[in-house]
Amino acid sequence: MIRLVDVTKSYGGEPALRNVTGEIQAGEIVVVCGPSGSGKSTLIRTINRLEPIQAGQIFVDGRDIHLSGWSVNDLRSTIGFVFQSFGLFQHLDALANVTLALRHVRGLPRKEAEAIGLAQLERFGLAGKARHMPSQLSGGQQQRVAIARALVMRPSVLLLDEPTSALDPEMVGEVLRTIEQLAGDGLTMVCVTHEMGFAKRVAKRVWLMAAGELKADVEKDMFFANDAGPDVREFLKNY
Ligand code: ADP
Repeated sequence: MIRLVDVTKSYGGEPALRNVTGEIQAGEIVVVCGPSGSGKSTLIRTINRLEPIQAGQIFVDGRDIHLSGWSVNDLRSTIGFVFQSFGLFQHLDALANVTLALRHVRGLPRKEAEAIGLAQLERFGLAGKARHMPSQLSGGQQQRVAIARALVMRPSVLLLDEPTSALDPEMVGEVLRTIEQLAGDGLTMVCVTHEMGFAKRVAKRVWLMAAGELKADVEKDMFFANDAGPDVREFLKNY
C-alpha cells in the first residue's frame, strides 16, 4: 500500500530523512517512534506530500505521489491526515468541519454529506456535539472530530502525526480508544506516537527512527521482546 524508496529530505542543508526505505502492507497498522527530532513528523508528512522530498520515491497504491499526476484533492481524499493540533476550522461547527471535504471536494449535496458526517460522529459518540463550535469542545473531542473528518472521505490510508501529544493527559485515552476502534476496520494506518502502550496493543509493526534514518522496521512482538537489535534496546530503555 505504501512504499518508500531511498527517501531523502533536508531542511536548508540539514538532513531530516536519510535514505529511508520501507514498505507498509494494506491493512497494516504501523507505529512510528523515535526520539524528538529524529524525522518522524517529516516522514509522515512526506507520505501526504505536505513536505516535498529531495530524492527517492513514495508510492501509495502503486502511484508515485511526488510525481505530478495526482491532484491535491485526489491525494488528500486517498490519504487522510490527522494533525497533532487537530487543525479544525474554528469558524465552522463540528459537523461542518466533518462534511467540508465531502461537499467541496466530493461535491455531495449538503443533506447527503450531513447524513454521512452525522453517522461518523455518532460512531464516535459525538452526535450530540455536531452543532458545537471547536472552542466549545474539549481537546479530546476536537481530535475525535478531526479523525471523523478524515474518515468520511473513506481514505485508503490514514496518517496520524502524534495525535495525542497536544492533549491533557486525561484526554489521551479517549482519543487512543477511538483510533483503536478503527483498527478492526482494515484501514492502513501510520501513527507517529510516543504512546508505547498503544503501540503494544494496536500496532502490527513498529518503525524506529533515529537521526533521520529508519533504524528498525519490525513486527510489534519482536520490537517489544527487546529482540530487535541495539537501537531498539536503547530506545526502549526510556519506556
Ligand atoms: P520528530 O517528528 O521526530 O520530532 P521532525 O521530523 O519534526 O522530527 O524533525 C526532524 C529534523 O528536521 C529536526 O532536526 C528538525 O529540527 C528539522 N525540521 C523539522 N521541520 C523543519 C522545518 N519546517 N524547517 C527546518 N527544519 C525542520
